[in-house]
Amino acid sequence: MTHSPQDALPKTMQAVVCHGPEDYRLEERDVPSAGPGEVVVKVHSAGICASDIACYVGTPGYWPAGKIPGYVQPPVVPGHEFVGKVVALGEGAAEKTGLALGDTAISEQIVPCWDCRFCRRGQYWMCANGDTYGFRKATQGAMATYMKFPANAINHRIPDSVPIDHAVYIEPLACAIHAVQRGEIELDDVVVIAGAGPIGMGMIAAAKLRGPRLLIVTDVNDARLALAKEAGADVVLNPSKIDVVDEVRKLSEGYGCDVFIEASGHPSAIEQGLEMIRNLGTLVVFGVFKQPVTVDWSIIGDRKELNIHGSHLGPHCYPIAIDMLAKGYLPMDRIVTHSLELKDFQHGIDLAKAGQSALKVALRP
Ligand SMILES: [Zn+2]
Ligand SMILES: [Zn+2]
Repeated sequence: MTHSPQDALPKTMQAVVCHGPEDYRLEERDVPSAGPGEVVVKVHSAGICASDIACYVGTPGYWPAGKIPGYVQPPVVPGHEFVGKVVALGEGAAEKTGLALGDTAISEQIVPCWDCRFCRRGQYWMCANGDTYGFRKATQGAMATYMKFPANAINHRIPDSVPIDHAVYIEPLACAIHAVQRGEIELDDVVVIAGAGPIGMGMIAAAKLRGPRLLIVTDVNDARLALAKEAGADVVLNPSKIDVVDEVRKLSEGYGCDVFIEASGHPSAIEQGLEMIRNLGTLVVFGVFKQPVTVDWSIIGDRKELNIHGSHLGPHCYPIAIDMLAKGYLPMDRIVTHSLELKDFQHGIDLAKAGQSALKVALRP
């Protein structure tokens, strides 16, 4: 009788389980098993994302509110930013994924249906029936010792040239790269990135590769602005100290910036962006807002004829993110500021929520 690698795994594991807003518990759960086409990994680390915090505090959209249905299906293990080692492959999974036992691997945050209008057109990141890890029953997340990549998942092998402790940043970096692509930055452009959080840092590095004339970053936290400079920002501005609209106009011969990328989630950043962008400029909306933002829409059409581009997830960007990390384009040791044991998840959530000393908080199951 032969034994599959699955038999060598323990039967149960530790997992953080989300039962509802502000109700996350450390529990004993069954170790997932790899069915046909599925991959099980032992989680090396799991990042805490701003969206995990939004879910934790009960933001509408994640949870039902009025006419909006909730996306989250509790009880669910959170975590869509992760990296792990392959420990079990279901029937046909090795052929399908190209992964082998012992490989370092990640899986894109959304597991698409491959059957809806968007998936059929290759727009899998906007899948109408997609499940995102850490929020849905079918895609339990990474804040556990083991996790499963379902058969529909998009998986990537991580080469040894990427330090495994940096690989947890691949998901946020892929999102940052996609937002920068949506900005359509040209040589000689003046670009403003609002928000120097973990995603903002990735945007800086990605925007730099597009060859802007001047890359300006705004944030109210001076420590983050200092790191933004290390990541490649030419000029950093603190809107709590100076008039950033005025400053950006001065730095662009009075015209305003060509491209504005919003990554802070602050309503005031959208207002400032609309003011500081030049006529015919491109404004990218990546940030997630706690409440509706009110602005003068006439600026978009009548006054400036702007392109307003949304940006969601990091489609087709994982290979680019992996390459950027392999090349050491980012000060990763200062971006992943905390690495905590899984049992200290509550402390991790509190650190990420406060967002003062912490940039990217990772949990180590
Ligand atoms: Zn995320
Ligand atoms: Zn789909």
